[in-house]
Amino acid sequence: MNRSGKFGITVLGSGSGGNASVIHGPEGRLLLDVGFSAKEMESRLEKAGIEPDSIRAILITHGHTDHTKGCRTFADRHGLCAYFTAATRQEGERVRFLPERQAVIEPGSAFTLCGMHIEPFTLPHDAVDTVGFTFQVSGKKLGVATDLGHLNLLARQKLKGCALLVLESNHDPLLLQASSRPIQLKRRILGRHGHLSNRDALDALEELLTLESEELILAHLSRECNNRELLEELAKEALANLDRSDILLEIASQEHPLATRWLVE
Ligand SMILES: [Zn+2]
Ligand SMILES: [Zn+2]
Repeated sequence: MNRSGKFGITVLGSGSGGNASVIHGPEGRLLLDVGFSAKEMESRLEKAGIEPDSIRAILITHGHTDHTKGCRTFADRHGLCAYFTAATRQEGERVRFLPERQAVIEPGSAFTLCGMHIEPFTLPHDAVDTVGFTFQVSGKKLGVATDLGHLNLLARQKLKGCALLVLESNHDPLLLQASSRPIQLKRRILGRHGHLSNRDALDALEELLTLESEELILAHLSRECNNRELLEELAKEALANLDRSDILLEIASQEHPLATRWLVE
């Protein structure tokens, strides 16, 4: 059982090989995306010290496998309801990630779950009806946007002023161009509905970070077309240029869960 009043996030893993996080709310925990097999999910939760049966529900951002791989098995095994948009549910029927218990959410329509005010919002990405989420507790906002081709006005409005922001920093355009990926895939990733580059993410910080901002987690790094050390250096430089070296910076890993970050303890 979650201790009352708490609010935070454990990134269990992030990248094109799978994405999943635990959002800890005052009245329980949620899974945000289930992009690893159920077995792998259980092993990562154990590493993070989280009981799978303490999770109350699942939120799915979109239908790509790196966000839905273990959704059906994990949800059914633990009796959880998965929430997704109607279009993502249709996609789930086609590619078979739908668990027994389902609920439909709508971009722009806020709801309350586990004591958190949750708002899904549309992101420009090449899957049907992709959403990002903000979670709010006691005036603190946590925002997650990991699959987006560009930061449009809506995304910037929603993500501005998060106490903790999880933002995609997918690739370095030069490493992507130099990679052995097929030209169509390169175009897809670089496009307005693909993935956010390091530069796109870091350039947006000037607008997104406010006095409320405390922590930044850069996520969904491409294994082949990004470089952790390079990104860390660029991100530190960007924060220093904004005179925001007070911001706690972390870079999500594909392999290991990050330590839980608490906004309210
Ligand atoms: Zn995606
Ligand atoms: Zn993804």
